[in-house]
Amino acid sequence: HEVADAAAAVRWRILAASLLAALIALAMAYWFSRTFTRRIRRLQAFADSLLGARTAESLAPDSDDELGALAGSLSRTADQLRDLFDKLSMESSRREAILASMMEGVLAVDHELRVTFCNEAFARAVGARMPVPSHLPVLELVRDPAFLDLLSRVLATNQTFKHRLQLAAAEGRVFEVQAAPLTAGTRRGAIAILHDITDLERLERVRRDFVGNVSHELRTPLTAIRGYAETLLEGALEDQENNRKFLEIIRAHAIRLNNIASDLLVLSELESGQPATPPEAVSIREALESALRTVESEAHIRNVALKPGRLEDAAVAGYRIRLEQAFVNLLDNAVKFNRPGGEVRIETGRTPEGAAQVIISDTGIGIPSDDLPRIFERFYRVDKARSRDVGGTGLGLSIVKHVIERMNGTVTVESKLGKGSVFTVTLPALDSAAAQS
Ligand code: ADP
Repeated sequence: HEVADAAAAVRWRILAASLLAALIALAMAYWFSRTFTRRIRRLQAFADSLLGARTAESLAPDSDDELGALAGSLSRTADQLRDLFDKLSMESSRREAILASMMEGVLAVDHELRVTFCNEAFARAVGARMPVPSHLPVLELVRDPAFLDLLSRVLATNQTFKHRLQLAAAEGRVFEVQAAPLTAGTRRGAIAILHDITDLERLERVRRDFVGNVSHELRTPLTAIRGYAETLLEGALEDQENNRKFLEIIRAHAIRLNNIASDLLVLSELESGQPATPPEAVSIREALESALRTVESEAHIRNVALKPGRLEDAAVAGYRIRLEQAFVNLLDNAVKFNRPGGEVRIETGRTPEGAAQVIISDTGIGIPSDDLPRIFERFYRVDKARSRDVGGTGLGLSIVKHVIERMNGTVTVESKLGKGSVFTVTLPALDSAAAQS
């Protein structure tokens, strides 16, 4: 009986010990699995943060087992990915900045003619508001069939095309469009670059007109000189009454030719970039007084009174000879296009902002309002015959405009037909705040 009791006690103890062992094992298993799960979760969170491109905190290897090794290699991959990501986003923001600040309009489309990129210049050219929604059909952005046709042709042939276009939305501006295929992996699309050539075309036209005008202007005096020289040679030399008159005509036209040539020279000098010497401080009053002396005799001959009023001095930055020439041209016009007994008033002062101002007003024939906006153009004259009679070249005011604009100033005109004209020159004074900033 005692033996049986002892055996039962041992069994119980074994059972208890086994139970305890099982419990401990369970607890340990639970604890291990918890740490394991936690570690795996950490790895997973880390991997997720990489995908989400958030700046993930670095992952320190926590033990020497396989999971620790995995954490280590994931961490190294993360470093490389982060590096790559930084480089890519740097590259992409650099490209975005370049494209955004480009003068040329840039538009990229996919193979279904949907917008994948559009920069500000392009949106402006086609009158669209930024940002242009991605995947917008091009048709809704640009309604010109010629433009769509160009893109379709690029997509169909995989070739580059160039085309001159006048976009309806861009108010008469002329563009040269270059469209090229764009392939990224298996994806195909096209890119179009808009180059505004309106100004270029206008300049080209101005240049052509100018060459035409110059030839025309030169031809008139040359023809006259040749004609009168031939008349003289063919017998008029003996004509005591007229030979002197003919010679005087020849001389007048030669002077005209000379005037045109020297005015053209001044203009081309003014237009050919920056002058060799830096600008100097020029006294407005000195330049004006010197110009007044130059036109004095002409004014006397034409019986026009020069009436300098208050001449407040100011220093401006520029070139003395040029400024004087601009004043001579303005004063000369005020005398030439005046009437006998008329007068020219000259005044200098300051604008409320402190800029120097010269006002030259005359009591002359005035300028029709239709012609006013054009008188600063080269060779533009209201009355060609009158201008020629008084020895004009039609270049005087364009020289004035060039000189004054070179000095960052402006020249404006107001006029009443039959009453007179007022020319106002405004130049930044060296001592005013605007000129110093
Ligand atoms: P021009 O050599 O003929 O004087 P400008 O370029 O100096 O050439 O002037 C252009 C034209 O502007 C002149 O032909 C004239 O018709 C007009 N004009 C300029 N200044 C005056 C003025 N003070 N009064 C009237 N017309 C003027």
